[in-house]
Amino acid sequence: MYLRLNNCVSLFSVVLFFFCTTIYGQNSAKGYAKIIVEKLASDEFSGRGYVNNGLEKSAKLIEEQFIKNGIKPVHGSYRQEFEYPINIIKSSEVKLNSKVLTFGRDYLLSANSPSLKGTFEPEEFNINTIDSAFVYGENFLIGNELNRIEKISNTILFPPKKFPENYTDETTSAQELYEQLPFGIINNTISNKFKVCIDYKNKLTHNLAPYQSEKVGITLLNDNSIKRIKNLELDIKTEFNPNFKTSNIIGKLDGSIEKDSIVIISAHYDHLGKVNNSVFSGANDNASGIALLLSLAKYFSTKKTNKYTLVFCAFSGEEVGLKGSQHFVNNPPVDLEKITMVLNFDIVGTGDEGIQVVNGRKHLDKFNALVDVNVKHNLVKQIKIRGEACNSDHCPFDKKGIPAFFTYTLGGAPYYHDLDDKSKALSLSKFDEVFMLFSKYIENL
Ligand SMILES: [Zn+2]
Repeated sequence: MYLRLNNCVSLFSVVLFFFCTTIYGQNSAKGYAKIIVEKLASDEFSGRGYVNNGLEKSAKLIEEQFIKNGIKPVHGSYRQEFEYPINIIKSSEVKLNSKVLTFGRDYLLSANSPSLKGTFEPEEFNINTIDSAFVYGENFLIGNELNRIEKISNTILFPPKKFPENYTDETTSAQELYEQLPFGIINNTISNKFKVCIDYKNKLTHNLAPYQSEKVGITLLNDNSIKRIKNLELDIKTEFNPNFKTSNIIGKLDGSIEKDSIVIISAHYDHLGKVNNSVFSGANDNASGIALLLSLAKYFSTKKTNKYTLVFCAFSGEEVGLKGSQHFVNNPPVDLEKITMVLNFDIVGTGDEGIQVVNGRKHLDKFNALVDVNVKHNLVKQIKIRGEACNSDHCPFDKKGIPAFFTYTLGGAPYYHDLDDKSKALSLSKFDEVFMLFSKYIENL
């Protein structure tokens, strides 16, 4: 596949070239970022996951951009290969009361679901039993209720849709518990009689699992259109791969003054893939972060204003549990002692309400320096500070004692791990400001 990203330079006139470089000189990175996001989040990349070679296609695109932008491999290759276990949903046909449901719109499968084919009839959890168990804390009642349902063959378990009405004081926590109840119980039950467990959620948020369980979990969108489940017809094909192979894509740009000190710029390029025709495009999560990483790579390879050596890490396997960054710190291709700082970007495609910096509170001097750059150049609306959170690829570095910031943008479209996180829904409204903030910050380090 050929992607003409340098068309300003290669195709058009000197005048246009001058125009482009002038814009670029003013640190406009958005045009390039938009091309990267649109490409990575297109259907061709199949959600950068585990079908149609989506992850590998994305890796190749990043490598190509490293080459075009003059970023060099650390040890002869951009690839740091590794593997991890993953449960892959190959296809999922679900009919509810004979109506075909759409994956990601009407329902989701639990990421750890096994293959299963058959028609199932529901047995509802007795609402009074659960009510009593909550009121009196008598969990054996739930056990009895489970035993009752287990005796009915080929049944599925699902919670009553109606919440108990007598929780005036603790409504929220009672409801939360209530929502989790069937899954929690199923996981604690040795019985294999339940093959399917149904749950309802107001928002469908897909994810991935590094193992396979014995039960199929189905989350239905709680839109009140389903009044009664009469039957459920399933044809689910999943495949557990204990050694899925992938690569971190790593490149470097030598520092102008302190070559031996390293600043890591990271973003994950993997996402959730696709199921049937439902593509989880991950425009914001995290094609946007890769676009920022590549924009910074492009900028510094031209300007050469980085005092420290920059190592650009496009991590894989983040959505399965930070697999790529964990592999990096366990098998470091550069000396960890030389890393002075990590700047990790994950979900940076908006910014109307500013940005948030995880670990800012832990490294106040570095955080304040970022705020100073923002004030000086009047860029984003606010930089919010956060403490520790192990929720992206900065975390394995942080655990090794390396100062690591994780930045994400605030405001804009709220789509997350769903079918609506598409490039056309992503504004990149403050991309230039965020880009300028971090390019200036890196120059001042
Ligand atoms: Zn994610």
